[in-house]
Amino acid sequence: MTAKRARVPFSRAVIGVVNAGVTPLDRMRARSVMAANRFFLVSAIVSLPWAIVIALADPPVTAAAGLTHLTMVCVWVICIDLNRRRLYLSATLSGLLVPIAQFTFLASVFSIDAGFQLPLLTVGAIAFVVFTPQEWLGGLVMTVLATGALLWTYGGSAFDSGEASVSDGHLRGFAVANVILVVVIVSTLAWFNNYFFVRERRRNERLLDEAEIAARTDSLTEVYNRRGVSPVLSQTARAGTYCVALADLDRFKRINDRLGHGAGDVVLSNVARTLVASVGDRGTVARWGGEEFLVVLPGMELDEAVAFMDEARKALETEYRSDGVLERVTISVGVAHAPRYTSKDEVLRLADAKLYDAKASGRNIVVGASLTPQRRG
Ligand code: GH3
Ligand code: MG
Ligand code: MG
Repeated sequence: MTAKRARVPFSRAVIGVVNAGVTPLDRMRARSVMAANRFFLVSAIVSLPWAIVIALADPPVTAAAGLTHLTMVCVWVICIDLNRRRLYLSATLSGLLVPIAQFTFLASVFSIDAGFQLPLLTVGAIAFVVFTPQEWLGGLVMTVLATGALLWTYGGSAFDSGEASVSDGHLRGFAVANVILVVVIVSTLAWFNNYFFVRERRRNERLLDEAEIAARTDSLTEVYNRRGVSPVLSQTARAGTYCVALADLDRFKRINDRLGHGAGDVVLSNVARTLVASVGDRGTVARWGGEEFLVVLPGMELDEAVAFMDEARKALETEYRSDGVLERVTISVGVAHAPRYTSKDEVLRLADAKLYDAKASGRNIVVGASLTPQRRG
């Protein structure tokens, strides 16, 4: 039976591609909407005194401009509250819809020379940051609305000369302030997006590292598992002659039967720790299977490896003999020596055969053999 591939709707796929790398994940959403709303709130508060000054200079038309600022401040306070209540979509929609209307209105009050239509340019970019991929329609509508309003301000005669009679100096001041506003909005959005994007990437890298380590490690004994030791074996075989040792616990089933599986687990993890301590930096210990450990010993000749593993065997025997409560814990070891580039399978087969010999000759001993004739002397 073949598994059917899940179909991704075309629209979702397109949005996914378009949003790749720029759309925040849901976790960031609350903060991004909040930050956008706070930013607008602050900018509205900052520009409020200016609006009041203009309104006082030439009432009543410009008073309307001052009032729009007050409305903006109120709306953004409401947005922040909506955001707190996790009504993100409402917060995002009202947080964008209101300024689109306000800036269009301001452009008609002061004429396009004052540049109030310019912040409409940023709505598309804001929509990318604050809408989730699932809410792409909301983002699209806001972008289209803002672009439509922007085109209207340039095309409509209502925007040629403003109703408010303000001096050219004031108009220039507004224009400069609006350009600065656009620059600040775009830079903040870029910084904000980049910050979360980088943070997310770092987090993913860390998770990937942890997952890779977990995949290579045996959870009980905390030494390499088969997958983990495989590249070590390959690299050792490429580097020169080497030995591998297969160490199997003797009569481990009996330990399990008498002390319970839980105690058996503790014994296994203690044996791994003792083996790691004995081997030190001369080699690598891995759990090869149930109660069987593999030790890779790079650059060692057979005699040396057999003696080395015999020390490890003795260390283990001594450790457990000193504890009168526990069962005797010993290992039998099969050692195989191989020349450079010998295949892993071949050397492991020999080590396994020698382990079998060790078991057959009474257990708790180390037996070794080489795939190459050994030099004497
Ligand atoms: P031998 O000396 O011939 O190796 O005898 P043995 O009893 O050690 O070998 P056998 O293959 O008969 O049994 C191995 C036992 O190891 C059986 C299995 O339940 C136990 N074992 C394998 N993995 C684990 C483990 O993760 N935890 C525990 N507690 N026991 C395990
Ligand atoms: Mg065993
Ligand atoms: Mg076994």
